[in-house]
Amino acid sequence: MPRAAQRGKETGAGTQPPPVLALPAQMIEIRVDWSKMDMVEARLWYQRLKLEFENAGRILNARACKLESENWTCYMAGKPKCCPKGIKHSGIPRGTDLEHKNSDGLIKAVRVCSENCWIRYQDERITERRNAYLAEAAANG
Ligand SMILES: [Zn+2]
Repeated sequence: MPRAAQRGKETGAGTQPPPVLALPAQMIEIRVDWSKMDMVEARLWYQRLKLEFENAGRILNARACKLESENWTCYMAGKPKCCPKGIKHSGIPRGTDLEHKNSDGLIKAVRVCSENCWIRYQDERITERRNAYLAEAAANG
């Protein structure tokens, strides 16, 4: 048996690659066998990765907002009692939410045009949180 393979057998190395998070710039490599990892450790890694991806979303959305200060669309456009669809805005929006989560769970930057639309946007968020709370309460009995 080659020396390197023998060494790997003695230490248990090589049976499961360790999670890789210390990354060289501009490169992402994550190799984890989630089905075999200790549950406590797996949840810690999951939490760390989730936070990192959410942070990436916030930074990328902030960068996108800076790049697109012209011709943005109000998130509330076309919704009841809000501005009509099809209007392209420029300049500073009334409200910006860099942490808005889409239905798919990904963070998306949201810009809102006016006080009216901003109040209705906040009302939507409150309703979403209330519904999530009620669903969780119902699931937990
Ligand atoms: Zn609007």
